[in-house]
Amino acid sequence: AKAHGKNGYVFYKNDMHQDASDEFSLENHLRKALEQNEFELFYQAQINSQTGEIIGVEALLRWNHPELGMILPNIFIPLAEKIGLIVPIGEWVIMEACRQNKMWQESGLPNMKVSVNLSTQQFLKQNLVDVVQHVLQSTQLNPQFLELEITESMAMDYKYARKVIDQLRGLGVAVSIDDFGTGYSSLKNLKCFAINRIKIDKCFVMNVLHNQNDEQIVSAIIAMAHGLGVNVVAEGVENEEQLHYLHSQECYNIQGYYFMKPLPAYEFTDQYPQLVEE
Ligand code: C2E
Ligand code: CA
Ligand code: CA
Repeated sequence: AKAHGKNGYVFYKNDMHQDASDEFSLENHLRKALEQNEFELFYQAQINSQTGEIIGVEALLRWNHPELGMILPNIFIPLAEKIGLIVPIGEWVIMEACRQNKMWQESGLPNMKVSVNLSTQQFLKQNLVDVVQHVLQSTQLNPQFLELEITESMAMDYKYARKVIDQLRGLGVAVSIDDFGTGYSSLKNLKCFAINRIKIDKCFVMNVLHNQNDEQIVSAIIAMAHGLGVNVVAEGVENEEQLHYLHSQECYNIQGYYFMKPLPAYEFTDQYPQLVEE
């Protein structure tokens, strides 16, 4: 019983360890994920629904965990932020997205912007502009084909945000506000920052036909963007009714499952011709 007990103990201990600190073990995996090449970017098209043209793609991060399979960013990005890994991961994302876009251009696909999500920590890091410049240099991507997405909460330190946005724009890169309307300083941001476009958050788009408030918010955001001469994209568009509503408000830049789910790069390349024919 003792010998078994010993084995049993070891087994029991490992088991306990996993239960008690799931996060800890995920954290350890996450620390190795970058060097073990477990990250992958998926791409989702943004389409001009008037012309059928693909105007851009958003790069969306995925983690291919060796045991757990594909993990979505909402799970691991908060963890990566907590343990300070989001900065190197985020740098990898910028590099990979630019490299891929350059490859698409060289393989003959029509030019499009690639949009990359920034995390707050990346945005607040002093060397962000240098990192972006370095990536553009080493991938040889023309800066006009890169867009960086920030959120309203990153612009809390208003002076700093304005400086960084101006410097990024100075490189020739576009800057957009993601999840527009969910923060609390939207209007001020639009007025004071040199923003290229805003993305209407999917939480509003989803209910646009069933919730009067959301409908009002969406139409107001679109009207305001038009009035200020800022580009606007609606995200999370899943069906024709939502599309029709957006058209009625003269919003034609569309991202959502209705046209395309996020796909691995090679599948995106495969689907490209069909997408454009539609
Ligand atoms: P997000 O930037 O708002 O990205 C849009 C999310 O909506 C994506 O989720 C996308 O897959 C999903 N989506 C697109 N169309 C539809 C639709 O029609 N219906 C619905 N229900 N969902 C749709 P995903 O890929 O899981 O990413 C979640 C969030 O994780 C992103 O939200 C973004 O905030 C963050 N994220 C993704 N990649 C990165 C990254 O490289 N760096 C950082 N810092 N954050 C990232
Ligand atoms: Ca985004
Ligand atoms: Ca969003």
